[in-house]
Amino acid sequence: MAKKIIVVGAGIGGMSAAVSCASRGYDVVLFDKNDKVGGKLNVLEREGFSFDLGPSILTLPHIFEQLFGLSGRKLADYVDIVPLDTHWRNFFEDGTVLDLYADTARTAAHLEEKIPGSGGEYRSFVEYSKLQYEIVDKKYFKKGLDTFWSFFTSYGWPELFFKLDIFRTMNDSVSRYFTDQHLRDVFNYFIKYVGSSAYNAPGFMNLMPWVQTGFGLWYVKGGMYNMARGIAKLMDELGITVVLNSEVKTIMRERCRVTGVVLASGEKHAADAVVSNMEVIPAYEKLLEAPGPFMRKLQKFEPACSGLVLHLGLDTTYPQLAHHNFVYSNDQRHHFDLVFNRHELPTDATIYLVAPTRTDPSQAPEGCDNLKLLPHIPYVNDTNPVSHSDYEALAEKTIDKLEAVGLKDIRRHIIVKDMWTPVDIQARYYSNKGSVYGVVSDRRKNFALKAPKKSTQYDNLYFVGGSVNPGAGMPMVCLCGQNTAKAAARDLG
Ligand SMILES: Cc1cc2nc3c(=O)[nH]c(=O)nc-3n(C[C@H](O)[C@H](O)[C@H](O)COP(=O)(O)OP(=O)(O)OC[C@H]3O[C@@H](n4cnc5c(N)ncnc54)[C@H](O)[C@@H]3O)c2cc1C
Repeated sequence: MAKKIIVVGAGIGGMSAAVSCASRGYDVVLFDKNDKVGGKLNVLEREGFSFDLGPSILTLPHIFEQLFGLSGRKLADYVDIVPLDTHWRNFFEDGTVLDLYADTARTAAHLEEKIPGSGGEYRSFVEYSKLQYEIVDKKYFKKGLDTFWSFFTSYGWPELFFKLDIFRTMNDSVSRYFTDQHLRDVFNYFIKYVGSSAYNAPGFMNLMPWVQTGFGLWYVKGGMYNMARGIAKLMDELGITVVLNSEVKTIMRERCRVTGVVLASGEKHAADAVVSNMEVIPAYEKLLEAPGPFMRKLQKFEPACSGLVLHLGLDTTYPQLAHHNFVYSNDQRHHFDLVFNRHELPTDATIYLVAPTRTDPSQAPEGCDNLKLLPHIPYVNDTNPVSHSDYEALAEKTIDKLEAVGLKDIRRHIIVKDMWTPVDIQARYYSNKGSVYGVVSDRRKNFALKAPKKSTQYDNLYFVGGSVNPGAGMPMVCLCGQNTAKAAARDLG
């Protein structure tokens, strides 16, 4: 009889682990507290508008192809993805607008025209970004490294100390390549993909522009949630049992092994191994009742930032917007400092603004725009919580900033409005303090390493998702699921 693996949570990480385990012949049962699979990859449908609640940018699609390939399937038979030509449109309050395109030569020419001298700077930066990606990809991503020690033993010291950018911050290196502050702000903001600060993250996180330039920036046709639907169909074909509306309250233990789970209903389910897609800190605290000294050791895995997520349905369109837009803070260093060091609401945040109807008109009624606004803000502070009215005031400031870069009279055109605060995000997905991207990448706190995939306390307990290496974002948690299944298979046989 096949050995049984229970997966707690049907986020992309949990689903990827479930598919990877089932593809290896294990009997897999997946429980989620919510009524839908996908976790943060979610959808809100209202009055003809379809809002992607979580991710709106897909990168590194080959990692999803790998997942479907484990059982001889093709991603393209389940999910329709399209590359975008204009990757990011960047707006500044001084009227500067800078585009990043799929084609590096086109981007270099555009930047050179806007800021003389910057085309060459950009080309050199892209080469450096590619090198950082290649070093990190070949061992940390592909071999699934988890600890400082495995870094030292897997990479030779010349590569680790002289090629991988470990001594500078991300901003230090961006500033060495670019002289213009607009471009420094733009390339520093690639840290958005992991919800951290470019002034705290290590230099090798500058691999992220190459993720986009080297492998494309993609959209899932019909809305990002179709990726979750595609994986759900694959799970069904592989015979994975998915049980929704079922919160896991406890992971049962016997000495240094786990034996199954207990649901909120009181039902018990035995298993040969458990994979938790609940983040590492809440899982140890709530499902495993770990003691205080052990929990203190986990504090280096501080949550990444949260976000104030605003969904606006408009009865008009703003043609100046591209699919993905950024509206920059006038002082981005201060923005990062407030959110990541002082843990205060930003006074002038950089805002990510997505307008998916540029690629997919089905996302809003005809003649209307569907906008998602996302300023990054601190995670939930339990001792000194932000009031709901403070969040509402920040939402108003965010809309004011759109006016400041030319989205005139936007308030007059809002016909649907929905807002998610860090408190809502925490309640819906049980993420650690409402973190949007798992663990913060900080060179002093954790050197951008997340928690290991295998529990250090229980022999047959594993973790998957944004709080686990290699970290957050859809492709990374999908890769994590595949690596976690490998680790489980090595132990279970
Ligand atoms: C607003 C927003 C924008 C984002 N933008 C992007 C983007 O553009 N591109 C990108 O790649 N990424 C983006 N991300 C990040 C991305 O969504 C996450 O990194 C990724 O989806 C996390 O997946 P996960 O599997 O780690 O966890 P989650 O998606 O958080 O899933 C965890 C699941 O576990 C369930 N669960 C937790 N505890 C229990 C329990 N005790 N019992 C049962 N079920 C439980 C939860 O209900 C949830 O379904 C964004 C996220 C947000 C919120």
